[in-house]
Amino acid sequence: AAVVGVLALQGSYNEHMAALRRIGAKGVEVRKPEQLLGLDSLIIPGGESTTMAKLADYHNLFPALREFVGAGKPVWGTCAGLIFLANKAVGQKSGGQELVGGLDCTVHRNFFGSQLQSFETELPVPMLAEKEGGSLTCRGVFIRAPAILEVGPDVEVLADCPVPAGRPSITITSGEGLEDEVYSKDRVIVAVRQGNILATAFHPELTSDSRWHRLFLAMDKDSRARSFAALSLSASS
Ligand code: GLN
Repeated sequence: AAVVGVLALQGSYNEHMAALRRIGAKGVEVRKPEQLLGLDSLIIPGGESTTMAKLADYHNLFPALREFVGAGKPVWGTCAGLIFLANKAVGQKSGGQELVGGLDCTVHRNFFGSQLQSFETELPVPMLAEKEGGSLTCRGVFIRAPAILEVGPDVEVLADCPVPAGRPSITITSGEGLEDEVYSKDRVIVAVRQGNILATAFHPELTSDSRWHRLFLAMDKDSRARSFAALSLSASS
């Protein structure tokens, strides 16, 4: 059976562990770089990304996390975990934070506002219904949620949602001597996949719908089958 790592520095890692248990998968809490060795896949939970980044830095986890993502192993980031995986994050109050990167997108850390603007919505996710069955929508739990403003060509958009009415306009500061841009679209991206990376701005681990965890497990299974095929190919040549 699959063994899924869950980054357990801060945030909703217990909820991910429980969600994995519910579908008969084994989760392993990861707090140190060496605990990533031998794992096939990893979940980076929601929480507070600045705090999580400080803890990850303290435990010297960034190089190992980058290597894990770069090796093509399945990684799923929810909320703060999505921020971790983004190549670029905007919307920090003060300064930046270290990112793992790998996901070709620009994420806004607090796009949907503060705790008071947290909300739940029924989110249509055609790909989830197609692969895992059930309802065409899933319950999207957005807590101080980030959103994806822009994606690169290799990123598949799985879900988007309307920008809430009254949302103040967002300036994307390039910081590189280029013009600042204002985000003016009326929809914003909240779930994506890019190869081995899955990312959601909301928290499936806080609902009883196991389909996202099952989808991730299927990515894990595919990737293990692929590396096994590559191994037997090189062994037979
Ligand atoms: N906006 C939060 C951050 O910057 C993420 C919130 C969450 O993970 N629930 O980390």
